[in-house]
Amino acid sequence: MYQGIMEGLLTRCRTLSALATCSLRHSRCIVRKCYHCAPGRGQRLVVSRMFQPQNLREDQVLSLEGRASDLTCKSQRLMLQVGLILPASPGCYHLMPYTVRAVEKLVRVIDQEMQAIGGQKINMPSLSPAELWRATGRWDLMGRELLRLKDRHGKEYCLGPTHEEAVTALVASQKKLSYKQLPLLLYQVTRKFRDEPRPRFGLLRGREFYMKDMYTFDSSSEAAQETYSLVCDAYCRLFDRLGLRWMKARADVGSIGGTMSHEFQLPVDIGEDRLVVCPSCHFSANTEIVDLSQKICPDCQGPLTETKGIEVGHTFYLGTKYSSIFNAHFTNAHGESLLAEMGCYGLGVTRILAAAIEVLSTEDCIRWPSLLAPYQVCIIPPKKGSKEAAATEIVERLYDDVTEALPQLRGEVLLDDRTHLTIGNRLKDANKLGYPFVIIASKRALEDPAHFEVWSQNTESRASCPSPLRSPELQSRAAESQEPGCC
Ligand code: ATP
Ligand code: MG
Repeated sequence: MYQGIMEGLLTRCRTLSALATCSLRHSRCIVRKCYHCAPGRGQRLVVSRMFQPQNLREDQVLSLEGRASDLTCKSQRLMLQVGLILPASPGCYHLMPYTVRAVEKLVRVIDQEMQAIGGQKINMPSLSPAELWRATGRWDLMGRELLRLKDRHGKEYCLGPTHEEAVTALVASQKKLSYKQLPLLLYQVTRKFRDEPRPRFGLLRGREFYMKDMYTFDSSSEAAQETYSLVCDAYCRLFDRLGLRWMKARADVGSIGGTMSHEFQLPVDIGEDRLVVCPSCHFSANTEIVDLSQKICPDCQGPLTETKGIEVGHTFYLGTKYSSIFNAHFTNAHGESLLAEMGCYGLGVTRILAAAIEVLSTEDCIRWPSLLAPYQVCIIPPKKGSKEAAATEIVERLYDDVTEALPQLRGEVLLDDRTHLTIGNRLKDANKLGYPFVIIASKRALEDPAHFEVWSQNTESRASCPSPLRSPELQSRAAESQEPGCC
């Protein structure tokens, strides 16, 4: 009876299989806490056990956030309302289980893209000694944005806002770096700390946030520019895979320095960056680097338009700015010691998540890039004591069959076991949380064969049939997610 459902989900599973290791590992960790057992069958992941602090009073939120007037953007409001994040102090958030799952999935997609171009993952300490920053002059230049502290011996540190100094000193310490080891692409995904003057918009501008930062070392300026293009292409692929509309804009090098820089921006009204865009040739630049009165595209002389964007990524060609300070050398084929040519490349991990929610969601309901949705499917059994309650067992069997037959979906399917609530109320919650698929047992679940309603939330469509996931709507959606190289 479930053959069709299985087939549809199987198509979807192929897309998810690349992320499956992460979710399976995760699901095993939480298995005891969040599942309830069905006699003789697998364990079910149930909504009632999810830790999801909700319904904070607005005054509670405001006192935790620190500022009333800045509680203004949609992603922040929705994420607080459904208990995805909880303010801890201004610009700092607790990430709740759904959010951690989404962040882990995002990190996994980032890992795939960075490793596909030769990136090697490392993890550097957040505590960064002041002398590194004094060497580059940024101890003073960064001013109050740098969160500074002293240890018990009076030694000064900052909490890393970025890691150019640390990584260059690390590479410089490898005295025998050979040209054969280049290009060297080192990256990490770690918490960054910046004492932002106005932390706001939830995860979009925090004081503590996750960033993916990659640092590259090349043997010549030509090779470094090739690496620069390679990383930019990887960023383009990443945003395409997430299904986000993005722009690559020429940008200012700011306090990081270097000679060439681009920002990856998601165009949206609440964006804090102002950009000029040429609709004819796709030239785009942050207004920080172009004359605001400039109305003509420098590349094709067409008229420029203005838009706002959220900066989700930033790339810099650094040259030898840092390698010359820390003596990050390599030995070339003739045995000569030369300075490495560097680049650095940031992606705001938590910012990408919030920005995606900002651009994809409706005013009332969260929508995720389908690769990042914390759970793919929510199954809603009938209300206890209702006419349809006799179908409860059939629905639970559907859950078990799906997760048994499609191991890739294990840990991705939730059963909304809050059967004291009506299906309508639980559907409203599911709609707000944005599971890509919701399966409901309505009256027709008692027919032979049993019929289920399947809601595809991202396309706002609904089908009722015994093999609902065979519907053209769902099939085409599944096919859409099957990009080459995705899984
Ligand atoms: P902004 O101009 O928005 O302050 P930035 O240019 O200072 O950002 P970078 O140093 O380029 O930021 O950092 C790399 C990436 O880290 C940014 O592109 C952004 O996605 C993310 N990021 C920077 N600051 C924050 C923050 N306060 N909260 C969340 N993410 C951030
Ligand atoms: Mg930037």
